[in-house]
Amino acid sequence: MTPADPDIQGTTTFIPDLLYVGGRFRSGRALVCDREGRVAAVARAEELPERAEAVRLRGRAMLPGMVNAHSHAFQRVIRGRTEYRGRAAADSFWTWREEMYAAASRLTPEDIYDASRMAFLEMALSGITSVGEFHYLHRTPDGREYDDPNLLAREVVRAALDVGLRIALLRVAYARAGFRREPDDRQKRFIEPDPETFIRNTQTLTRDLTAEAPHAWVGVAPHSVRAVPVGYLREVEAFARASGLPVHMHVAEQPAEVEACLAETGRTPVALLADGGVLSPRFTGVHAVHVTAEEVASLAAAGACVCACPTTERNLGDGVLPADALLGAGVPLALGTDSHAQIDLLEDARELEYHMRLLSLSRNVLAPARDEDEGRAEVDANAGAPGKAAGAGQDEGRGMSALAARLFGCATCAGARSIGARAGAFEPGRAADFFTVALNDPSIAGASRADLLPAIVFSLSRAAVRETAVAGRLVTEQGRHPAQDEIVSRFAALQRRLWS
Ligand SMILES: [Zn+2]
Repeated sequence: MTPADPDIQGTTTFIPDLLYVGGRFRSGRALVCDREGRVAAVARAEELPERAEAVRLRGRAMLPGMVNAHSHAFQRVIRGRTEYRGRAAADSFWTWREEMYAAASRLTPEDIYDASRMAFLEMALSGITSVGEFHYLHRTPDGREYDDPNLLAREVVRAALDVGLRIALLRVAYARAGFRREPDDRQKRFIEPDPETFIRNTQTLTRDLTAEAPHAWVGVAPHSVRAVPVGYLREVEAFARASGLPVHMHVAEQPAEVEACLAETGRTPVALLADGGVLSPRFTGVHAVHVTAEEVASLAAAGACVCACPTTERNLGDGVLPADALLGAGVPLALGTDSHAQIDLLEDARELEYHMRLLSLSRNVLAPARDEDEGRAEVDANAGAPGKAAGAGQDEGRGMSALAARLFGCATCAGARSIGARAGAFEPGRAADFFTVALNDPSIAGASRADLLPAIVFSLSRAAVRETAVAGRLVTEQGRHPAQDEIVSRFAALQRRLWS
């Protein structure tokens, strides 16, 4: 944008103290959003046309909105309810799953709306602007289709749009309890027994969302190799390929799942997917905790993503993601809050690194290799010399933390790629989605401009997030959402009804 640009009508401009663009924080920059809610330009504040209406965000740093690539929104209702030792000899993922099934079988469509709105509100308050919702509740508790087979998916989408988030509804294919396992009554709500039914219902939802909801779209999610046999999986993938849809799948979360896959097919889960032609740049394997070096290589060769959910994985006792091997092989790592034991995507980002430190007894494990660092410095220099000069004045001799930039990239660009959102960075044409942090918040106060990103990635309190915007429109202001009280009180009433 230049000062002479006459096409200023309908645009919105935000001017924070610091804007994270081109891999560093810059002052005196304005984010200009077009009327479709995309980034039109990052402009110098003093060069804005006089007629431009600018929202001045004082005392704030602004960053691209984060992308939560793996969510099961309804699981918000079991937060805090599974932190007890049950009757089983040892609590595990599998005993946790019993509690989750108990909740899933009791929720009405309206309950699912209320629980989802609660989860999405928390996301908006923490700087998340897009969510990939891995949605597997399709049917009535006794396993019948609703008159509208997408009723529950629509309730989740309505919840996200009412809160103000973008949503990729990753519609789950679920066929069976598992290899050589009897049907489980509590999975009746999840099951669409044949690929034809799944594809028909997914097509209907795709058509309707395309027509009605610009901030909602569809992806497909064969639940896991445990729940979807290979023949069904192939048909779903062929449909997704023909329609260009993202494909998400739980992969290698638990050793028992890997062992069952070996017993049924003679292959590990990722090897099975590779042989079946399921891996592609549209594919995201969720978890991928228990993968071999060969499996990492085949994910990388296919250009596939992995979505890590370290907060949930540590809560469930799943294991530690080999983030060093995956990033080292060039696999993009997205992040998800999954079970919503906690909703704070920066916590997930820092855990990727912290878990590696605990295992290796060393520090800065996921920092890119030195040559990559130098490559980044060059890109930054080309991106805008004035900003670089301003940064150098305050932090002479200090480079930006490439580790923090890499982890923040997991929470933004990698997630956007995984769920098919054109978001994650302040670049023209991408979504004008952002969050701000208060620079005087005690958790980051005193950070220099160069230290600010590592301070945010490793230390930010969620309470420091002040504004969140989607498509250039503020969803939260001053750390509050306009519907917050109503959303929270309806959710509290739901919890009383469910559990008392
Ligand atoms: Zn999951």
